[in-house]
Amino acid sequence: MKDRFHAPGDFAQAYVIAHEIGHHIQNLQGISDKVQHARQSARNEAESNAYSVRLELQADCYAGVWAMHADGENRILEAGDVEEAMTAAAAIGDDALQKQAQGYAVPDSFTHGTSRQRMHWFNQGLNTGDIKKCDTFNVASI
Ligand SMILES: [Zn+2]
Repeated sequence: MKDRFHAPGDFAQAYVIAHEIGHHIQNLQGISDKVQHARQSARNEAESNAYSVRLELQADCYAGVWAMHADGENRILEAGDVEEAMTAAAAIGDDALQKQAQGYAVPDSFTHGTSRQRMHWFNQGLNTGDIKKCDTFNVASI
């Protein structure tokens, strides 16, 4: 994270791990299966990718929920930690990654969301601490 994405700090790593655990929760909730099916019956690649983006942003939101509760119970958050997670979320947004790799971004090909969206949904989880507020599938705009 530090070398490749210029996103240093222990909490940048915690955010990435919490995001992956978020996917595990989505598996348990059956959400991943539903998204898999929706992607298969999508009319085109862009529509299929849009489902993926909502799944990934939900995992970001779950990571924020974890951070809020972990801090509440154990006071783990130190000064600068949230900023580390935000820097990481921004660095691994599809727009940032594509610009870094090819010099430009192709929104229809995004599968994880933009930097702004990833920061927004991590914050949504962090500020609410409620996975019910992470329903990225039933909001008009992500
Ligand atoms: Zn993911």
